[in-house]
Amino acid sequence: MDSEQLRECGHRMVDFIADYYKSIETFPVLSQVQPGYLKELLPDSAPNQPDTLDALFDDIREKIVPGVTHWQSPNYFAYYPSNSSTAGFLGEMLSAAFNIVGFSWITSPAATELEVIVLDWFAKMLKLPSQFLSSALGGGVIQGTASEAVLVVLLAARDRTLKKQGKKSLEKLVVYASDQTHSALQKACQIAGIFPENFRVVKADCSNNYAVAPEAVSEAISVDLSSGLIPFFICATVGTTSSSAVDPLHKIGTIAQAHDMWFHIDAAYAGSACICPEYRHHLDGVEEADSFNMNAHKWFLTNFDCSLLWVKDKSYLIEALSTNPEFLKNKASQANSVVDFKDWQIPLGRRFRSLKLWMVLRLYGVESLQGYIRKHIQLAKHFEQLVLSDSRFEVVTPRNFSLVCFRLVPPTSEDDKGRKLNYSLMDTTNSSGKIFISHTVLSGKFVLRFAVGAPLTEGQHVDAAWKLLQDEATKLLGSA
Ligand code: PLP
Repeated sequence: MDSEQLRECGHRMVDFIADYYKSIETFPVLSQVQPGYLKELLPDSAPNQPDTLDALFDDIREKIVPGVTHWQSPNYFAYYPSNSSTAGFLGEMLSAAFNIVGFSWITSPAATELEVIVLDWFAKMLKLPSQFLSSALGGGVIQGTASEAVLVVLLAARDRTLKKQGKKSLEKLVVYASDQTHSALQKACQIAGIFPENFRVVKADCSNNYAVAPEAVSEAISVDLSSGLIPFFICATVGTTSSSAVDPLHKIGTIAQAHDMWFHIDAAYAGSACICPEYRHHLDGVEEADSFNMNAHKWFLTNFDCSLLWVKDKSYLIEALSTNPEFLKNKASQANSVVDFKDWQIPLGRRFRSLKLWMVLRLYGVESLQGYIRKHIQLAKHFEQLVLSDSRFEVVTPRNFSLVCFRLVPPTSEDDKGRKLNYSLMDTTNSSGKIFISHTVLSGKFVLRFAVGAPLTEGQHVDAAWKLLQDEATKLLGSA
């Protein structure tokens, strides 16, 4: 590593990136390339001799950028957002610079200690119960993704139950969630060895705006108990992936406590909104939870990846995930005087991710972060009003945060519940490259999702997106 070379190349890369952001609206939001396009453009094997940075930049412009879908575009409204920011970007840079592998405290004390402090800060911003703070039995840790978060707590819960019920009880353990819960939980069950027939998916429907009905959960648990099974884990969601539904945390928590089950809350997307006092009520009932997760890398200006997980009692996580090989032994760990985050996660190695979150919190401050969230929710409200003002469209389920679920109402002659019509609307608008929206299915209806949350999105982008959708709808209905 030559410092002067790094300085020169680094400056050029920063210029490239700044120009990219400046011109981001000139690119099609959704990449328009065909599968396999890159194989046609790049050689079959790695170069034997070093190439120049100029040649590389040419290839990035001509061959890579066309294959990028621009998640940071202000016209990106698909899935849920994945925010970048100057602070998050600087944090990533510094993390790449130190390039530590912080599995144990000794491998970089600052990495572990900053993570503990920043997660305590965040827990206080969310007004999580004090048991989730590092000063108590619990604490927070940064995972890569919400999927990893739910996997590690499922493993902790599994081992906690097996310790009580005996190792041979694995085949009896039952997991509960709604049909709106993210598929990450199903994957976690597959990995954790939960028997597939013991993954209980409780139906949530429009009568509760796609939140799970606690009575249905209780009923499923009763049936399983009477069959000799062991209910041990339940996951509730604050801001479901399809429609941002919020499960009733208090009631689910009460059920979990009554049956000595682990209660996990997945607030991957909507957790960010709960730093605003007016949205904090969505977390009421978190006191009952054993674990709580939210993704700072979604809607909190922190570059991917940065998924925040808190547990009420860290000992279960550590018991399930710790190993203590000779080659990692050191004085601080042996004395039990430090946190070794290797025992809170699946991999050994871990990046210095707390830096970027710390920088986001330091350089923006809580007040302007609250303003950022509020602005997106206002823009989503505005979009919702636009949809409501055009009788050809409908809002499918009430909006909770910054996601609007809507669709073109199909003519009565169509018997596919509007699937073809709304698929065509999504496909034509996305193929235009002007916006990117995504879809889901709710109660059999093909529904379009408009998620506001990209950092550069302003009112004019929402208005232009709506005009595009209206114009395409006119064309489609005309030709229907
Ligand atoms: N949970 C919810 C509610 C989500 O919306 C998502 C992704 O959008 C996930 C979990 C999975 O997130 P990750 O990619 O961090 O695993």
